[in-house]
Amino acid sequence: MNHPLRCRCGTLKGYVSHPERVNRGVCYCRDCQAYAHFLGKPADILDEMGGTDVVATLAKYLTFTHGFESLACMSLTKNGLLRWYASCCNTPIGNTPRDFKVSFVGLVHTCLEDPTRNLESSFGPVRMRVNTKTAKGRPKSMPISTITSVLRFLASVIRARLDGSYKLTPFFAPDRGTPVAQPKMLTSSERDRVMNAI
Ligand SMILES: [Zn+2]
Ligand SMILES: [Zn+2]
Repeated sequence: MNHPLRCRCGTLKGYVSHPERVNRGVCYCRDCQAYAHFLGKPADILDEMGGTDVVATLAKYLTFTHGFESLACMSLTKNGLLRWYASCCNTPIGNTPRDFKVSFVGLVHTCLEDPTRNLESSFGPVRMRVNTKTAKGRPKSMPISTITSVLRFLASVIRARLDGSYKLTPFFAPDRGTPVAQPKMLTSSERDRVMNAI
């Protein structure tokens, strides 16, 4: 069953297909924390240790149905991840590599909240915690068994590259791989402001 995706104000909507094929994790890196401050509502995005709950899936499993023109993009650094969000209400949507041949998107939990089901029932439990050194505290370590699911997910990213299905993505033009929205680059003072807000 598809899982709905929606920005806070409801302008940008869509769904995630094959929710059972995702890999869910929490990232505690400084950039994810700074991004939450950039969007202006860090308490809605970050957990008490500064972690962002992310559902990694292949870009081809994501479909937008409404409000596509609200989709905007920024990056904290010249070579950093492209961070996609809904410009209508600053809801984070997902993070992608700059190279569209690496076809994953880390969907931020905020756009996946749904009154009828929780993340766990659609996407399963958190299977990895990354960049825990920059967490505000000591996140629980994950059992080693979860490595299997991480490897299975990485294999699906490689498969999408080999079979050409990486071209099925809402984030990039399929022929040239250019982002569908011009990534906003922060000025150095904007960047200092969000990095210092952590
Ligand atoms: Zn919105
Ligand atoms: Zn991160």
